Amino acid sequence: MILKVLRILNKRMKLTEDDQRYYQNQEKGYEGEVQFDLLTEKLQRECHILNDLQLESNKSSFQLDSSLIFQETYSLFDVKNFEGEYVYGDEYFKAPSGRDIQNPLDQLKRSKLLLSNLLQSLGSKLTVEAYVIFINPQFTLYQTPPDLPFILPTKLDSFMKKLDQKPSRLNQSHVNLADKLISLHQTVPPKIQLPNYSYETLKKGLTCCNCDSFSVTIVGKKLICGKCGGEELVTVAVMRNVEEFKLLFPERKITTNVIHEWCGVVDSRKRISRVLGKNLKITGLGQWAFYK
Ligand SMILES: [Zn+2]
Repeated sequence: MILKVLRILNKRMKLTEDDQRYYQNQEKGYEGEVQFDLLTEKLQRECHILNDLQLESNKSSFQLDSSLIFQETYSLFDVKNFEGEYVYGDEYFKAPSGRDIQNPLDQLKRSKLLLSNLLQSLGSKLTVEAYVIFINPQFTLYQTPPDLPFILPTKLDSFMKKLDQKPSRLNQSHVNLADKLISLHQTVPPKIQLPNYSYETLKKGLTCCNCDSFSVTIVGKKLICGKCGGEELVTVAVMRNVEEFKLLFPERKITTNVIHEWCGVVDSRKRISRVLGKNLKITGLGQWAFYK
């Protein structure tokens, strides 16, 4: 969700250097999670996979990127897509050249503790195991103390194999626990500072669905990209851009005028109003009409 907003902002405005770095980190983190998901999907053992849970325990909120429910254990994973060579430090991983990164161990311990408390309060007897997964094969961490719950890239294969050998038989109580946790998932994301943006300063216009270019023209029913040659139905492109608008400005009303301006390249107001009318529910009449 945050990543989606950042992607849209990145194409419609110039992000500051800090915001740009933050955005790239989010993008990379997401990529790492996707890669780890591919590994957990391959597991043959009986287990429930729960991804991207935002939970609360003792009024503290915590996030679980990826977790697996086995018969006796609840395994949670914090996936890191770090790249490059670092030297282990209790607080920071030190980069010989470049930026240090925060040691994720404290964060992991915190999540583990909060999750254990939550499971206990739900009457579950599962033991919580927590690991940091370093997914990127281009990551090296020198002087890592032994016995840390860190799975470095060279150990990932054997770790996954070991996971897959855990004896595991699931029953209704595991299903109930998974359902319960999903129901406790908080849809409101934690407060994260987004770059400053306003409707006025963002670049307007339809963008290509392949390459995000603004160099698109309308030919008949299609939107054609001058950069990559990609084609998309105008209706689909308009609705895709309406979704972007809603994400960026959830409190603003969707009207023909606003979307007409937002989409830029579509010169006919009627065409916009037809697309909106077909895909959204209209409320109100005439110039006061808006869509939901
Ligand atoms: Zn394109």
